[in-house]
Amino acid sequence: MIEYKNKEEIELIRNSSLLVAKTLAEVARNIRPGISTKQLDDIAETFIRDNKALPGFKGYRGFPATLCVSPNDVVVHGIPSNKELRDGDIVSVDCGVLLNGFYGDSAFTFAVGEISEQLKRLLKVTHNCLMIGIEKAIDGNFLGDISYAIQYNAEKEGFSVVRELVGHGVGRNLHEAPEVPNYGKQGKGLKLKEGLVIAVEPMINLGVKNIVQDRDGWTIRTADRKPSAHFEHTIAVGKDKVDVLSTFKYIEEALQSNNNNTIINNN
Ligand code: MG
Ligand code: MG
Repeated sequence: MIEYKNKEEIELIRNSSLLVAKTLAEVARNIRPGISTKQLDDIAETFIRDNKALPGFKGYRGFPATLCVSPNDVVVHGIPSNKELRDGDIVSVDCGVLLNGFYGDSAFTFAVGEISEQLKRLLKVTHNCLMIGIEKAIDGNFLGDISYAIQYNAEKEGFSVVRELVGHGVGRNLHEAPEVPNYGKQGKGLKLKEGLVIAVEPMINLGVKNIVQDRDGWTIRTADRKPSAHFEHTIAVGKDKVDVLSTFKYIEEALQSNNNNTIINNN
């Protein structure tokens, strides 16, 4: 069953989503070759608790950490560890928080140091897929319009779309109905209505679309071990225009002050 949100509930989800955005900016400030994914996780957990919220992922179905940190061929659900990031890596960082009874959920894929032109293109296209997809989140459109826009924009660039993992409703629960696939057909699926709050999260692979899971029961990798990127926003369907509840604004500011290369400046 889908729970449509009223205006107050949407504002609470916005607050949670903005805290996620600021947490990802703390991570952005610290991403560099040599830092471990566990160090990033500690930074995020401290920041979230200092802001009187709870990490949304920690303990969720037994997940052991605050962040999902997924480098290179890891698509999503990477468990933070002592493994260090290296120059030339890409790393998806996914974060959820619980604040005032509501979740927010957002993810960003970072470049570590200097990355290849091919990886820059993968990041840029995946980010574009997210932004083009969420533009369709307007009252009267269909869920399939979002899905199709993501798939079309990934595949026209020669990349592939993960099928097994999807976006989702967000609210009092981290994962609610409906599922939001990153592939599909225009005009199909749920008709979008104001009050629907969803996380849209394209996972786009450089190589084949197929994935495998590690023995840890969490880590999802590409079957061909080629890199994968992931961007996510929590959004509310609007009457004439999508209302993006999370933001990458703080991340972009952090990356600029780092003198880091952000993938989404359009030069
Ligand atoms: Mg997420
Ligand atoms: Mg999500």
